[in-house]
This record gives sequence, structure tokens and C-alpha cells, in this order.
Amino acid sequence: MKAAILEKINEPLTIAEVEIGEPSFGQVLVKILVSGICGSQLQEIGGYKGNGAYVPHLLGHEGAGIVQKIGPGVTKVKEGDKVVMHWRKGDGIESDFPVYTFKGKPMRSGKVTTFSEYSIVSENRVTPVPQDTPNELCALLGCSLSTALGTVNLEADLKLGESLMVVGVGGLGINLIKAGRLVGAYPIIAVDIYENKRELAQQMGAQFFVDASKGKIGEVIEKNLGMKDVDVIVDTTGNPVSLKETIQLLSGTGRFIMVGQPKPGETVELTNANHFFGGSGKTLKATQGGRFTPSIEIPRYVRLYRGGVLNIDGIVSHRVKLDQINEAVDLVRKGQAGRIMIEME
Ligand SMILES: [Zn+2]
Repeated sequence: MKAAILEKINEPLTIAEVEIGEPSFGQVLVKILVSGICGSQLQEIGGYKGNGAYVPHLLGHEGAGIVQKIGPGVTKVKEGDKVVMHWRKGDGIESDFPVYTFKGKPMRSGKVTTFSEYSIVSENRVTPVPQDTPNELCALLGCSLSTALGTVNLEADLKLGESLMVVGVGGLGINLIKAGRLVGAYPIIAVDIYENKRELAQQMGAQFFVDASKGKIGEVIEKNLGMKDVDVIVDTTGNPVSLKETIQLLSGTGRFIMVGQPKPGETVELTNANHFFGGSGKTLKATQGGRFTPSIEIPRYVRLYRGGVLNIDGIVSHRVKLDQINEAVDLVRKGQAGRIMIEME
């Protein structure tokens, strides 16, 4: 089968044939329909996740697929089931790492990977959904959309009418804006350094856009919205310069959630740190996937979609084939994409 392999850190992915075996105990063989590209894979390509020691390996952690075969012990899904492939652990067996063969040698890989035509996945990394669930919704529920909804709803516990600032209008940022709309955040302020993200942010539901390349974010929102601070700020950039500026904008009861990760060794500065004691207990938190629990939240979000409450219109900005994955990764790296979907067929 064809796969995109991370062979060398900081180099384009290799598109090549990989041999896939049979699913062993607790594993599921899945034919992949579509996969999203997540910022996390950029970090892996850059070797920021301590993964340099494990190359070559496969990548990708949000996908839609069809179960082809189940290994011993698997009871959660059966052949023919449509599944969301996710990196957070759900119900079911936590299997051993799948092993593929690449260039005649064994290649161990993560418990879920999606940048290939087929994948062997741990039972607890798939969640079955109704057959007519759109492929792109399934992929988005594997990471970005579920992370966004979890971040706003579970992690920040955003209340009706609280203000929300989303820093970075990329593949995750646009999902966060949608999530903010769903839970009644107001106003939703989107921040990016590219003016061409203004329209996208507003289409997703942001009421205000700040071009952070043109001035101080705090001054812009005070001048235009009369706001001195924000209740919930979610940073998707992990950029220390941006973090230093936005952390200061947190309200007295505010929650600051870091979703984007700074590079290893980077320092994030807390200017005038005593302002953290000025309110009733401000929160600065790094989230792990918005703390979403796949077995509980994925079926709930699918019902929301089917009921017409949740829509994913406009989230996917590009659709590419597996052969074009390196160009797509570049677009994500340059901050010039919403969510990109790789279509395997
Ligand atoms: Zn992700």
C-alpha cells in the first residue's frame, strides 16, 4: 500500500510502498478514506516531539475509514464498520505498536496513523459511527473539531456570553471559532498575523478580527470593542511572542488555554506576573486535546451534526491526494490553510 513516511527529520515525507501485515491482538485493519493534517504532524516532521529516534515512521492522527478486518480480542467494531480514527484513547484494547515493513525492514509505528491507504490501529483509537456520517466530519472528529469543542466546552467551561479570543486562524483556530459559536461565546475575537484570514474568521462566526501584525491586540480591542480584557483566550500558535502579549489580556476570572505547543526549550514570559492575582483566580492551562473522550463525545457530536446544530461548512480549505501531501504540509506551515484533507481514493 502507498503511504507517506517520515524518513528523515525536517525533510519532505517519502511517498512509497509499505507492506502491511495482519491485525494482531486488539488491532483493527482500516481502509482510510480521508485524513486531516494537524499541526502536531508538523511538530513530528520537525522532530520536536522527541520522535527523531523512531524514524522512519508513519504519521497522521485524524481520519475516516472502513474496518477491513479485526484482530483477536476486538469487540468494539466489525468488518465494514465506518470509524473515526483518533489519537485520544477511547474504549477498547490498547494494543501493541503496529509493525509495518519498509525497504525490507520492520517499521514500528504509532497506535493510530492515517497518512496511508490502509492502517493498523489499536482498538481504542477507533470509534464506530453511522455509515452515512460524512467522511470529512469523521476526520475532523478525530482531532481538530473534537479538540476545539472540548477546549471551549470542557476545558474552559465557557459560559453563555463570555468573550472568547482565538489566536491563530488555522486548521484548529477555525474549529475553535465554530465551537465558540455553538456554546454562545460573545464576542468571538479572532487574531492572526495574516490579513487574508479576516474573511475566513468572519465566515466561521468571529465577530471581530485583529491583524496582530499591525498593532497591539489589547489596544485594538479596547479602541474598537471597548474591552480591556477577555474571559477565555485559546492560543493555537505556541508562539512565545504572541503568548507574552495575549496572556496579559486575561480577565479577572479568565481561563487561558494553550493548545499550540512552543518548541522544546523555548521560554514563555509572563510580563507583570502579579496581574494573575488581580482577579478571582485566573487559569493558565496547557490542554491535551481539549480533554475529549472519544467514546462519549464523538457519538454526541455526530448527533449534533445530524440534528443540524453543528455544521462543518468552510472548515476544509483544501482537498489533496496523498501524492501532494508535502505541498499541503507547506501550506499548513505557512499559515495559509484552514483544514486540509487528504483524499485516499
Ligand atoms: Zn491533531
